[in-house]
Amino acid sequence: AMFVEGKELKEKYGEDKVFDFSLGNPATPAPAALNQAIRTLLDEADSSPQAAMELHGYMENVGYKEVRQAVADNLNKRFGTKFDAHNLVMTVGAAGGLNIIFKTILDPGDEVIVFAPFFGEYRQYAANFDASIVAVNPNPETFQPDLADFEAKITAKTKALIVNTPNNPTGVIYKPETMEQIAEILTRKEKEFGHDIYLVSDEPYRELVYDGNKEDFLTKYYKNTIVGYSFSKSLSLPGERIGYVVVPDEAADAELLLKGLEISNRVLGFVNAPSLQQKAVAACLEEKTDVVFYDENRKMLYEGLTALGFTCIKPEGAFYLWLKSPVEDEEAFVEEGKKYNILMVKGSAFGCGGFVRLAYCVSHETVKNSLPAFAKLAAVYGLSAK
Ligand code: PLP
Repeated sequence: AMFVEGKELKEKYGEDKVFDFSLGNPATPAPAALNQAIRTLLDEADSSPQAAMELHGYMENVGYKEVRQAVADNLNKRFGTKFDAHNLVMTVGAAGGLNIIFKTILDPGDEVIVFAPFFGEYRQYAANFDASIVAVNPNPETFQPDLADFEAKITAKTKALIVNTPNNPTGVIYKPETMEQIAEILTRKEKEFGHDIYLVSDEPYRELVYDGNKEDFLTKYYKNTIVGYSFSKSLSLPGERIGYVVVPDEAADAELLLKGLEISNRVLGFVNAPSLQQKAVAACLEEKTDVVFYDENRKMLYEGLTALGFTCIKPEGAFYLWLKSPVEDEEAFVEEGKKYNILMVKGSAFGCGGFVRLAYCVSHETVKNSLPAFAKLAAVYGLSAK
């Protein structure tokens, strides 16, 4: 709805008069190497009918073996893991990956724990398989998860926990100590309830980290970790729908899980991840998005808004800023923002009212030109400049 609203406002007032912070659509173009890889693949396909069939045809439902091996080698090099092609399933983005994971592990009535605030679609993904989510409160100061609340909310029905760090919508990165404590709690609760609890790591923002934070890979904390990755943000390809799932050998029932993921890819109607994109990303695993570009926006927006008197959680990763609404009803604040052509997303969409999300994956000009509009908005609430 906000996508349409933004477009309408831009048509009415002009592109440069609307400050649309509503969408997580990357503002940096895909690396030139990616487009070149696609051209090369298409040229190869033109070279013979056999090559064309190989590029555009069906393959194993888990994806091309050489692509999975290339991803495994890349992860092993970066994170010291020991994966092989058989540990991977190429997916239709993170959304496709999460849905095949849930189809594989969830039974009707199961519960999936999420740390609020969370990517709202987790709710629907769990509901697709007649399961539900259970939200854990955040620490209201740091927006790290409240681990006492987490422990209290694990029940006999808990099948999985989703962890999304760097986080959408807060931009917070969960600390290694937090991950260690989460692993310890899960291990204890697995014993108490006598069944496996999977940690599903949803990682579309893995590489988008600032201020010297390191890219992390969560399988090192907890044995039963399943990783869902997406190239949507890291290579600016959200429309192309490409990602992967990793199941480490040490995860409980790893072989069965991998079989389940393969069949789920098929029967949920994905069949396989797009063939051209599989091969294109495999050729670009060393490529990086322009983190410096997002970092500049992050600093400009965070510093600009705090100087105006707004309270924000300082983002450490991803490309979102989590701002405290000056009034309890953040929907009223979102509506007020629209009067100044500022589009923000209400926190309740992420299971956490009283805050709004700003996606700063926009041009530098949009951030810069939005600050006078935010100054007018701050004045409505009597915020004082710092
Ligand atoms: N998970 C999170 C936390 C996201 O923010 C998004 C997209 O914004 C997704 C999953 C879905 O990503 P994809 O485009 O790869 O399906």
